[in-house]
Amino acid sequence: MRATVFALALMMLSAMAIRASAGALTPQQMVGWKIVCDSHATPAEKYAASEFQTLFMGLTGASLPIVESAPTGSGVVLIGPDATFHAGIAKPAAAFGEEELRIHIAPGVVAIDGGRQRGTLYGVYEFFEENCGVRYLTHDDTYYSPDSESHKLPFGTRTFNPKFAFRWSYYGETNQYPEFAARLHTNTVTNDVKLGGISGYRLVNHCVAYLVPPAKYGATHPEYYALVGGKRVWDTTDGGGPQLCLTNPHVRDVLAEAIEQEIEQNPDQKNFNIAQMDNANYCTCPECKALDDREGSHSGTMIAFVNSVAEIIEKRHPDVLLSTFAYWYTRKPPKTIKPRHNVMVQLCSIECCTLHSIDDPKCALNRTFCHDMAVWNNICDKLFIWHYNTNFTAYTLPYPNLKSIGKSVDYFARHSGRGVFMQAAGNANAAEMSDLRNYVMSRCLWKPGRDSWSEALEFCRMYYRESAEPIIGYLTDLHNRVQAAGMHPTCFPTESSLCITRESAKEMLASFNQAISLAQSDTIRERVEKASLCAYRAALSASSIDLIYSDNLYRPDLEGLDPQLLDRYEAMGKKYGATMEGEGTTSESYIGGLRTFFAGLKTVSIENQTWRVVLLPGSNGKLIEMTYKPTGRNLIQAHRAFNRFRYEEWVRSGAGPAGNHSMSYEVANLQPDSITLALVAEDGTRFERKIALTSDAVKFDTNITAGVDRALDIWVHPEYDAGTTVMDPETVRVYVKQRSRWVQANRGWREALSNPPQEAFIRGSAPGGGYALFNKELQYGVEQRFNGNDFRALELFWGPARQQVNLELVPKVTSLVKGEKTHYGYEVHYLSNAPR
Ligand SMILES: [Zn+2]
Ligand SMILES: [Zn+2]
Repeated sequence: MRATVFALALMMLSAMAIRASAGALTPQQMVGWKIVCDSHATPAEKYAASEFQTLFMGLTGASLPIVESAPTGSGVVLIGPDATFHAGIAKPAAAFGEEELRIHIAPGVVAIDGGRQRGTLYGVYEFFEENCGVRYLTHDDTYYSPDSESHKLPFGTRTFNPKFAFRWSYYGETNQYPEFAARLHTNTVTNDVKLGGISGYRLVNHCVAYLVPPAKYGATHPEYYALVGGKRVWDTTDGGGPQLCLTNPHVRDVLAEAIEQEIEQNPDQKNFNIAQMDNANYCTCPECKALDDREGSHSGTMIAFVNSVAEIIEKRHPDVLLSTFAYWYTRKPPKTIKPRHNVMVQLCSIECCTLHSIDDPKCALNRTFCHDMAVWNNICDKLFIWHYNTNFTAYTLPYPNLKSIGKSVDYFARHSGRGVFMQAAGNANAAEMSDLRNYVMSRCLWKPGRDSWSEALEFCRMYYRESAEPIIGYLTDLHNRVQAAGMHPTCFPTESSLCITRESAKEMLASFNQAISLAQSDTIRERVEKASLCAYRAALSASSIDLIYSDNLYRPDLEGLDPQLLDRYEAMGKKYGATMEGEGTTSESYIGGLRTFFAGLKTVSIENQTWRVVLLPGSNGKLIEMTYKPTGRNLIQAHRAFNRFRYEEWVRSGAGPAGNHSMSYEVANLQPDSITLALVAEDGTRFERKIALTSDAVKFDTNITAGVDRALDIWVHPEYDAGTTVMDPETVRVYVKQRSRWVQANRGWREALSNPPQEAFIRGSAPGGGYALFNKELQYGVEQRFNGNDFRALELFWGPARQQVNLELVPKVTSLVKGEKTHYGYEVHYLSNAPR
């Protein structure tokens, strides 16, 4: 019966088509029409009909009834493939791509349909966005332009199939509001059938240690786990857990069995993950090493392993994909091994600069990424991207990547990326300009090629309205300032690479104060206030770059800044739901730490004719100054924001002082030129550090006595001042000692932060007993001398862009029994000449 009614309707519409004088409709002319959605429509198609009703009401003020069939002679909005099928403009749902949509506009009819589950719903959003000028700004604000009722809706049929099958702008603002996420075409945050559910693709995650659990296999089969520094390491929790020995066939069988079980539990999932843990403890056994050496990358063992599991899984599950990372030391593709046809690779850009677009030929950090992506694209036809869009250490600090987002996303699309995870402040709210960023990223993911800067300006004008211009001024200045300074901020930028100074922070505060003063309603005022958190955060950082030192206390310098800075930042953060300051730092702990800091941190100094060393016993015993008096140069990373003084020693698992767990040392002994610090961790383990000055060196000695039987993964983490922010290995040189000869180890690192073969070379250079840094232009450096038997590895963080180089030492000890002691030490010498 429905078919008859629709056939009549269609005849009437054809007649209208003949009579139509102009080739377009306007929304105003649709007032009085009916929304037709078939009773057999899917939940998402029914929801699409109700969304059409809501958005049309917002646009015109008129409510269109939703019906299952329409009487003849009335205008109709047909929603879903069943409705359009019965109306004769047939295209069965199965003939559409999964998210493909079609919009058909003719006299008396607007028909929107598409693939299942989400095509029709996206079609409705697309109709209002593209045809009617509607914008989905935030979960509680939709923009309707003043003249949208008279927008021309040209007759014709348009289809659209999104380039990316997986789209995720990773913000709290989208993760917590699935209905809003759907409007922005994000297909990764909800299983709700009303919203068309979730993409079948899953984000790749660090998981091999969960698939072959060390608690189950470690004691009986240590050979399943990676050989690191001559030992099978299975009892670490660093980076989520141990890596596997990927050339061991038993490991392959255990892991394939685990994947089989996952498939049974998740039959709709398209891919299953086999991906490295988040640490560099890859296997160096002879078989793994030979394969990696032959392939010129650790992706050699990884892809060979995933291929071997994929071959097993394919027998019972030919459509399932096995997915893995190309991340960090596996980012570089293997020379000869290609991923099988049922293997998916998620390529990660963590080393890249985010100010410049990924394909900016002038940005050295990004060039090698593009090279790697081109090769992956050649050898893998299921390439997904993990791109970084935030400051992981400080979500609220100003972050200048709004000009690069669009171009980078477009590059991923043009080079056959099938999905993009735009990682940002997903576990937070009210991160820097997060409402704007979520909008911009989502729109670029839906239609690669959009210009993110224009999108950002559009958002500002629609959302901040009368207050928009000073905010646009803030964004423009921020990007120009960092560009002009030649910086290349990554997703772990420092204040220096973001050009955050007392002066720039004052300008930012002034911009937001002006924006607030222009606001004409509480709504706009609150929106601006939420956005202004970034200026307050910048000022907090700026106040702690130059500390005031008096009465043996260090505290931030609020000169010229708002004295109520911290109180205001805390109050606004609470008001706008901020709970996380960074990826692993809660707002509460950050602000609590700052309160202590503002009250003044107790410092202790030791000094002789050559050296002055200042440290904070109450905060992991961090060093904040190591001045070589003959030249007056402070060798360690200049003062930065609180929680960034990182010249210290950490445990990477278990009880003790850690990067994200500052502990208080007691001063056990203090002499003019030496200090002994001591603390007892929760498990009774005693950590004792002695720092002593001699005429030519600063000597560090650590003694640890275990309180229980325990693993001990400790890390000496000295951060040195690189003296520059220019990424040039000719200027900022790193040396290791090989058979008593110094060798420069960072040649050619201009092209990438990470260089796996050279990293491996450095890591294995501990026996030489020397690790040095030298700035050739400024003619200064440091040499670390130590007993090569005390350490199992050297780690390098070479980050001139952050004005920083870390010469990290990994002590040999990996476990102690109760009461057992260990000792290691090193000396720092000042260099006026390059080592040789
Ligand atoms: Zn191995
Ligand atoms: Zn750059």
